[in-house]
Amino acid sequence: MKAINGMLRVDQKYSLIGNDYLGGFEGSGYSQCENCGKPIANIAMVKGSDDAKTYHIGIDCASTLTSINPNEILQAKKELARKAKFVKFLKTECKTVIISGKPDNDTAWAYSKEVEKWESFWRIRFVYSFWKNIISKLNIRLIVD
Ligand SMILES: [Zn+2]
Repeated sequence: MKAINGMLRVDQKYSLIGNDYLGGFEGSGYSQCENCGKPIANIAMVKGSDDAKTYHIGIDCASTLTSINPNEILQAKKELARKAKFVKFLKTECKTVIISGKPDNDTAWAYSKEVEKWESFWRIRFVYSFWKNIISKLNIRLIVD
């Protein structure tokens, strides 16, 4: 198994268990690759086969791990591109987010203009808990419906 000056152990395999995009929001999670130490925006969560620990590494470092299928990397890159696009929307266009007041409902709606209540014009549906941290750092009006 090859790795680029990696800190990850080379005597175990890794599987890709998730991905995350922080969009430059420091402190909202991992911002440095646990393998090469470089700052990362496109994060891959990989799990060791022996130590069962989860490591947050750059998607490029993840693509050098031979135990991970290249198709999985490709899929993760597509998801990361979608997440990056959504973060850009939140940063530049989103004015209002409406969330449900019910604890078992994690669905939220993002609007590109200011609304007072749920409206059916152009909006984006998303899972609130994934983006809660970033939304709280932006100038977005949050409405609990
Ligand atoms: Zn790295």
